[in-house]
Amino acid sequence: MRKKKGTLRRLRYTILFIFFILLVFYGIRHQVVGGGPAGSPSIHAYCPFGGLETAYLYFTSGEFLRKLYYSNFILLGAVVLLAGVTGAGFCGWICPFGAFQEWLNRLGKKVFKKTYELPKGLDRALRYMKYLVLAVILLFTYKTGKLVFEDYDPFFALFHFKFEELTVGLVILLLLIPISLFLRRAWCRYFCPLGAFLSFFNWMSRFKIIRKADTCVECGACKRVCQMAIQIEKVERVPETHCIKCLECVEVCKYESLILQTPKFLPSTRYVLPVVILILFLGTIGISMASGFWKSKAPAEVAFKIASPDEIRGWMTLRDVARIFHIPEKQLTVKFSIPEEALDMQIRKLDKYGIKEEDVRHKVKELQIQTVEARKKAPSPEDIAGWMTLEDVSVMFDIPVDVLKKRLGLKPEDSPKVQLKSFNDRYPHFPKKVREEVKKILEERKKF
Ligand code: SF4
Ligand code: SF4
Repeated sequence: MRKKKGTLRRLRYTILFIFFILLVFYGIRHQVVGGGPAGSPSIHAYCPFGGLETAYLYFTSGEFLRKLYYSNFILLGAVVLLAGVTGAGFCGWICPFGAFQEWLNRLGKKVFKKTYELPKGLDRALRYMKYLVLAVILLFTYKTGKLVFEDYDPFFALFHFKFEELTVGLVILLLLIPISLFLRRAWCRYFCPLGAFLSFFNWMSRFKIIRKADTCVECGACKRVCQMAIQIEKVERVPETHCIKCLECVEVCKYESLILQTPKFLPSTRYVLPVVILILFLGTIGISMASGFWKSKAPAEVAFKIASPDEIRGWMTLRDVARIFHIPEKQLTVKFSIPEEALDMQIRKLDKYGIKEEDVRHKVKELQIQTVEARKKAPSPEDIAGWMTLEDVSVMFDIPVDVLKKRLGLKPEDSPKVQLKSFNDRYPHFPKKVREEVKKILEERKKF
């Protein structure tokens, strides 16, 4: 009987911790520096599943889904290679989201001294759920040409480090945290679309875990440490579909009844598995970097190619927005009541003017509608209504807000964002006064 050791687990947790910290670093850096061609890539660029999501668009049009680029294909290639050679070694030794759940579960075990399992039938049925998740995501992504899973993705919610918006992904993450305290790797077992995809390649693996029935006493220790809750003590060979090759079971078995079968040309020690995993994963990335194929963000000409205000991003400036949507810069400074120098600031930094990304998208849409309307019919001062603001009037007739304020006898501190009728208590029939003043200004313009 062999004494229980923890060397392999320590090694695995160290490797997982390094990859976890790396993603935390990339996530925070993106928030601090911002995205875009001059910034830091979003966490999406480091997700192997992104390669699968963008595959259809890339092979049909040569384009990528926004926020995804060549790095996603390279990572997808690396994990598929890993799956074919080692089984789901990526899930057990590299995936930071798997590690996150596993550590929570260890914490739960320490605090509550117990882990729970779902009834066998339910567990078996739920394991197929991830294939449905995979199919639904790919179907909708390929149909819409958008990263639809983003808002539902707990991995993204965790590593994107932007927690102020309550997305479905964040809700799933918040549910997953208490669940993981009691249930082992619930996301990996039941919902992970990447895990589902990799299971199509795991069967090719040359690393197998074999149980020697003649020495096994069916103590169940292996099953208790297995994060994928596999009934190891009942099988001759651990099924590749669910196993993440963490080797916890191999290490815990005091009777040495579980052995890792390695390919013949490799040494038959369990330590060879992490070495192969790291060589294949880091080697693929290293070779792609050395050969110049590793690109994790789109160049400017691609990043600025947007068609809808919904695609405006925080790393863009209002000057970029003006150029992309053919809006006069002056119109934007009036619309947002900002000084001209603010046009060169990233939108995400316009907080000090009370402007958020969402406001910019909304107002650009408004301006687009107004432009279309204006093309149909030139506005008349008679169209001015009490519910409009001074800013609206300014945009409609291209008259600076300051000029309007002066002509209407308003004070500089009067807000141009409030409805015209709200000035009625100071100036009776204020909207009528605005109509008359605008008429005069237009007449004066005609004379010059
Ligand atoms: S394989 Fe080892 S740990 Fe698992 S049941 Fe048999 S003796 Fe126990
Ligand atoms: S069967 Fe063993 S190697 Fe596979 S997931 Fe369970 S504990 Fe890890």
